[in-house]
Amino acid sequence: MIYIKKKYDNGIEVNSEVYEDEFYSACPICGKEVNLDREMLIHVLQEGDMTGTSFYCEECSRKKLNENINGDVESNFSNSFRENSKAICKLIEQVKNKELQDSLFIALDTLSDLIGDELHK
Ligand SMILES: [Zn+2]
Repeated sequence: MIYIKKKYDNGIEVNSEVYEDEFYSACPICGKEVNLDREMLIHVLQEGDMTGTSFYCEECSRKKLNENINGDVESNFSNSFRENSKAICKLIEQVKNKELQDSLFIALDTLSDLIGDELHK
């Protein structure tokens, strides 16, 4: 059996048997109670420390994951679009028909503006 001993400032000492399913953390975003399973306990003991570790609740960790994924897609898209626009510009510069060249540049500019607006909403 494993016990915890807790001494309070008022001198009271509490000793209690502790069971594996009694450990919990508080979600750092919403404060919800998060029960620690065996794997989480092992993680804390091996990699973290008791006071410096907290676990996100299911809902907040899903939100965080989605934010990260969307953030990555947006920056990948924006970088890739910028790179490809440069390549397209070079191609447009080679167009002999001046009128067509001008309207292609305008079309590309318009598209860039629209996409920029969408990404920075
Ligand atoms: Zn939460």
